[in-house]
Amino acid sequence: MTNQEHRRKKMSGSRRKRNKNIAIRNYSTQGILNCVYCTKELVTSNFTLDHFIPTSKFKKQKPSESPHRTSNLVVCCVECNDAKADLLPQEFLSILRKENLIPKKDIKIYSINKTLLLEI
Ligand SMILES: [Zn+2]
Repeated sequence: MTNQEHRRKKMSGSRRKRNKNIAIRNYSTQGILNCVYCTKELVTSNFTLDHFIPTSKFKKQKPSESPHRTSNLVVCCVECNDAKADLLPQEFLSILRKENLIPKKDIKIYSINKTLLLEI
């Protein structure tokens, strides 16, 4: 089992559906959302939720909180979610920037409940 599958398994189906609905309510415009990392357009029927701080590292940073809380979840395309795996967001973004897949600055990432998580 990959880390990805492991993580997906930890969030129950009903919780994931509820969180996806929160993301759609807060961010979709005419059925379109954007991946917070590569900014690719995603349809509301086909996107993933990424743990901004990976579950494996979250407990070390915030032992008393759940990694599945809405303030740690972001809208993400399947490709970024798989590529990010267990990396911290800053680590993953620096890879995307080196490959010129995203701008060097003016990046703002919000969680599905509209918490500003990162500003570069
Ligand atoms: Zn992406």
